[in-house]
Amino acid sequence: MWRGTVARVLRSGRTGNSRFVSGTAAVVEFRRRLERELEDIRGAGTWKSERIISSRQGPHLRLEGGGTGILNFCANNYLGLSSHPEVIRAAVEALEKFGAGLSSVRFICGTQSIHKDLEEKIARFHQREDAILYASCFDANAGIFEALLTPEDAVLSDELNHASIIDGIRLCKANKYRYKHMDMQDLEAKLQDAQKHRLRLVATDGAFSMDGDIAPLREICQLAQKYDALVFIDECHATGFLGPSGRGTDELLGVMDKVTIINSTLGKALGGAAGGYTTGPKPLIDLLRQRSRPYLFSNSLPPAVVGCASKALDLLMESNAIAQSMAAKTQRFRSKMTAAGFTISGKDHPICPVMLGDARLAAVMAEDMLNRGIYVIGFSYPVVPKGKARIRVQISAVHSDEDIDRCVDAFTEVGRKHGALP
Ligand code: PLP
Repeated sequence: MWRGTVARVLRSGRTGNSRFVSGTAAVVEFRRRLERELEDIRGAGTWKSERIISSRQGPHLRLEGGGTGILNFCANNYLGLSSHPEVIRAAVEALEKFGAGLSSVRFICGTQSIHKDLEEKIARFHQREDAILYASCFDANAGIFEALLTPEDAVLSDELNHASIIDGIRLCKANKYRYKHMDMQDLEAKLQDAQKHRLRLVATDGAFSMDGDIAPLREICQLAQKYDALVFIDECHATGFLGPSGRGTDELLGVMDKVTIINSTLGKALGGAAGGYTTGPKPLIDLLRQRSRPYLFSNSLPPAVVGCASKALDLLMESNAIAQSMAAKTQRFRSKMTAAGFTISGKDHPICPVMLGDARLAAVMAEDMLNRGIYVIGFSYPVVPKGKARIRVQISAVHSDEDIDRCVDAFTEVGRKHGALP
């Protein structure tokens, strides 16, 4: 049968080396269905292709087949710690001392002293009682709602929350309310309706990654107090750089004592390797260690990854100079782009969406920016609402003023060429 399959594959012109190619009718039909689906994605213009980087992550990249010295404006490397020499050294030391990995989940034989140290450091950084590590923030979001909420409870979620919050909420059996993006009237109406439930949890991104806008946490916390609810925030695009000492949105808006639960990532500003966490009250963290499925049934974070995040937190707790440098670069980019005639969504956040409206315009402009050595990405429907296509620019502390100016100049040139600017 295998020989027959190979002959069929060769006749059909497909010469991949996959054993997946088999002759049963079910598999042939399955394969056809997959190909049709892929064709639909291409046809809808929403195909995501991946550019291959052949250097370290940083402000200047080498792209495979795309030359060197590409200016990178699309990573979440807000503080530029992904390739910081001390972060790399810490990873190497942890690798040498603690090995490649644990081959185990935490509760069997996967907890090392560095995992406990990092959890303690995260809790101290956020000024909370305890913290628990996950392989990613996606996992932290997937694991929290199901572990905490029952059909007696309610969760109220901003409609533009990150996909991982949406998926995490889907997994739980609580009553679900979706309020309009940052709309406090709608949240209040939903909180009133949710009074019949035992517990109410309001869940929001601290900073929203597509718009660079910041949740109105003060108002959310006031409503939570009025309607006896808890507040959960996802701080992936805030931890390490928002607020006077980089603690995040809750610090920026003066509500550190009013937010009960924080989930965040180690894969963006905090060294950029991988990993996520929940930090909050100790009994909550204790319960997650007993009940949260992505924690219980997935491997421990590798020591090198723990080493990176731990060093990143040390650097941030020593000084906020890096975060301040990023804020100054962000300000430079936003003001120069606005002066050039572009509309930049959000306020003071290093996510700077250049609003263009038309999906094709965003795609061709992003392509033309890369032709000029600037790596940025266009986003259009269904990732953002129809008619709100944009190019998302992300600023990092390690961009120089010259890098920022080169990016603005290229945008101005490309914007004029394609009619986005007069
Ligand atoms: N939450 C938000 C708001 C995010 O932007 C992301 C990643 O893009 C995640 C969660 C998932 O984080 P991680 O990459 O650690 O899984």
